[in-house]
Amino acid sequence: MIRDPNVPIPERTDQDEPNVPRVFLREPGWRVGMKHGSEREFCHNIAPGEEAYHRLSDGELFVHSADERLCLPCADRRGLLHFEPKGLGKARDIIELDGPAQPGDTFKVIDPKALD
Ligand SMILES: [Zn+2]
Repeated sequence: MIRDPNVPIPERTDQDEPNVPRVFLREPGWRVGMKHGSEREFCHNIAPGEEAYHRLSDGELFVHSADERLCLPCADRRGLLHFEPKGLGKARDIIELDGPAQPGDTFKVIDPKALD
């Protein structure tokens, strides 16, 4: 979106939500790059509603592989970008192990559902 130059930029405070989310690229073989200068370089994807490849602009961040270069909106449409950090996985049920009470006792596995 192009900002209207006649509309003043609103003051931002530390409490404002950022306009840009955290972005993660985890696809093997893909890297992030930045377009430098006025040399004509194109995104290798035709955006919906357009009929031609669009140019990357000076200073624009893009993702690239050995074969392709995509602007961030096209990379998002392709499903290459993620907006959440990798989690530690789904929480698992806790299994309680009761230690042996007496010498010679064995461990006893207690199903947590049986405690409810
Ligand atoms: Zn694009």
